[in-house]
Amino acid sequence: MNGIVFDIQRFSTHDGYGIRTTVFMKGCNNACLWCHNPEGLSLKTQLRTYPMKCISCGRCTKVCKLDCDPLKCISCGKCADVCPTGARELCGVEMTPEKLFEEIKADLDFYKNSGGGVTFSGGEPLLQSDFISETAKRCKEIGISVGIQTAANVKWPEFEKVLPYTDFFMCDFKLFDDDLHKKYTGVSNKLIIENIKKLGNENIKLIVRTPVIAGVNESQIENICKTVKDLKNLDYYELLRYHKFGLSKLENLNMKFGKEFEEPSLESMRSLVKIAKQYIKNVKCDPIEEEE
Ligand code: SF4
Ligand code: SF4
Ligand code: SF4
Repeated sequence: MNGIVFDIQRFSTHDGYGIRTTVFMKGCNNACLWCHNPEGLSLKTQLRTYPMKCISCGRCTKVCKLDCDPLKCISCGKCADVCPTGARELCGVEMTPEKLFEEIKADLDFYKNSGGGVTFSGGEPLLQSDFISETAKRCKEIGISVGIQTAANVKWPEFEKVLPYTDFFMCDFKLFDDDLHKKYTGVSNKLIIENIKKLGNENIKLIVRTPVIAGVNESQIENICKTVKDLKNLDYYELLRYHKFGLSKLENLNMKFGKEFEEPSLESMRSLVKIAKQYIKNVKCDPIEEEE
């Protein structure tokens, strides 16, 4: 079976332990209004354009039967094949587990020396749990650590498929209040909380993360911490500062989705870390750690 991958980032140091390869899977069943990875929303391959790189050579319009009309585009990729500057490219390629495993394996020495490995991200990687399971199994066979970043809004059997080959999960817990969760992410948090609690009893490391969006969820952090503080295998809780990078990606993909939010101030992040530390010993937050 094939999976659809939209990016593979090597030498990542923010997606778990050590130096890692992060594999971004296409497709997501949430609709967070601040989505920072909109390339991951659709399960399908999409055309991505970078107008700044265009030199108006006209090659794309010669090969496209649909006049390069973004509203009619079927993401066939013919224009990307002939574009000399990379102003057009396809976002999302089909891969077999074997092919992806070979790419992951290329950095085996870095993983061994740093305690790193591979992290599957997205989108929601567990929408392609069979593919992840097949790939992760190969990684485990040669001792590569496997991590999964998930929004956890999938039924438990999807977790069960990957659990035997997974060393840690990084689970998002965005809002405690279910009405607010529905308002900002389009889905209820009931299944998410249930899954996080179940993962808290599995024989894996668990990392819970909250992206902090100004004016949206600062008031939620205390209740989130109270909910996860006693989970048996919680390794750490991480606060992620919202940034606006996702907005330009939407333009490149010709997508209309979500809205612009404010980035939380450093002062606000500092006070949220303090609140979180009242409940959880190991709290991480990049901008604050850099200050210390
Ligand atoms: S991807 Fe295909 S349909 Fe879309 S603009 Fe390019 S050539 Fe036309
Ligand atoms: S082929 Fe590329 S560089 Fe040429 S007109 Fe099309 S987008 Fe621009
Ligand atoms: S879970 Fe992640 S990829 Fe999915 S909509 Fe939310 S931010 Fe975007």
